[in-house]
Amino acid sequence: MEYRDIPVVKNIALVAHDHKKDDLIEWIKLHKDELVKHNLIATQTTGKLIEEMLDVKVKKVMSGPLGGDQQLGSMIASGDIHLMIFFWDPMQTQPHDSDVKALLRLGVVWNIPVAGCAATADFILSSPYMQSDYKAAQSDYHNYLNRKIIDDKKEAYGE
Ligand code: PGA
Repeated sequence: MEYRDIPVVKNIALVAHDHKKDDLIEWIKLHKDELVKHNLIATQTTGKLIEEMLDVKVKKVMSGPLGGDQQLGSMIASGDIHLMIFFWDPMQTQPHDSDVKALLRLGVVWNIPVAGCAATADFILSSPYMQSDYKAAQSDYHNYLNRKIIDDKKEAYGE
């Protein structure tokens, strides 16, 4: 089994859809003391709100619908985000639904903890792994990466 190291100081992605931004701000207020021990990264509007309302420093990527979700997905794939609190809106379709789906999918592909609501986020933040390093089991993607493509294509084209 392969592992990815999640360090004690974690890079935490914070995202909320517009109707969920209040909920995220409330949740962050409750957990501010713990959260400020880590590096916080957020989509643009969510990040600005957190900085304005809570006086917490946040690294900001682009707004979600303008590519921010994809930027976060890319950071998950390269191991630069260790957990994600993403309060997505189950009652509204989003212009960037495909990006939202892709971001949530990458959270599972790379086995990072992802919270979609305050209860899950509470459980994550109260985990003992928040105070220590953690080895996240990593699915073995070698077979997938080394799958035969060229030979199959040659057969298909009769070469
Ligand atoms: P926003 O993006 O923080 O810029 O509003 C959130 C999202 O991904 O929809």
